Amino acid sequence: MQQKKPKLVFNGVRGSRPVADKRVNKYGGNTSSILVEKGDRIVIFDAGTGIINIGDYLKKERTDIKILDIFLTHFHFDHILGLPFFQPILSRGYKINIYSAPYNKDNRSAKDVILTIFNQPYSPISSEGIKAEINFIELDINDKEPIPIGEGMSVAYQKNNSHPLCGVLIYKLTTEGKSIVYATDVETPGGFAGVTLDFISGADILIHDSQYFDSHYDAAESPKKGFGHSSVSMAVQNAKNARAKTLYLFHYDPAYSDRELEIMLKEARKVFKNTFLSEELKIINF
Ligand SMILES: [Zn+2]
Ligand SMILES: [Zn+2]
Repeated sequence: MQQKKPKLVFNGVRGSRPVADKRVNKYGGNTSSILVEKGDRIVIFDAGTGIINIGDYLKKERTDIKILDIFLTHFHFDHILGLPFFQPILSRGYKINIYSAPYNKDNRSAKDVILTIFNQPYSPISSEGIKAEINFIELDINDKEPIPIGEGMSVAYQKNNSHPLCGVLIYKLTTEGKSIVYATDVETPGGFAGVTLDFISGADILIHDSQYFDSHYDAAESPKKGFGHSSVSMAVQNAKNARAKTLYLFHYDPAYSDRELEIMLKEARKVFKNTFLSEELKIINF
């Protein structure tokens, strides 16, 4: 019998591409993937290389769990690259729901886009190597009804168009009156407003894109404006405006070392005291 208190685990916190380097040992080099576990249900947000660790964890420690719900923000590589290496997908007996926005381009569906990376010439696995039962669910972005997951959890979503060229879905998981908002790959120079600010307001845990130091975002040479990512001051401003209880900086630029991230944290705390660095394999009970 598992305890029913929910827990959040960061499994990949990096943006753009994975990093294998001693300088990032503490906070981690895997790309975006986070896990929420409550009782017998698992919810995963994004399937960057961090999801590989989640697969290993399920295979070793939670063999009783066979139904998984994976919510993708968008299809950029750093958010799906772990899927062909995610053991439950390659194993019989799992039922995996993969939720995303519709793709709707070139007559391709989200399913086609995802299966591309399992097939030639990208991978030797091929679609036949997928042994789990997978349901590809394209979310209706006009539907505002949260999706019930089980164990008293539900997931709501909202489209945000600040990320080129496809936009992303921002997700909000709610359970027992508490909420986690996952807002990555967003660029918000003026701060979130209107329905988006309403959507994220009051989050107990706000996980927010913080790809750049302000000085790099605004740099005279190679500025990062328009890349679809936030500076640290955008993240803290949104946390403040939304009256979030805690803010976790996320989706760090691959160039930043652990030390630099700690400097970023100090900058953030000057404006929003309850800021933390998302850290690979760190468990947060909430
Ligand atoms: Zn990304
Ligand atoms: Zn992206």
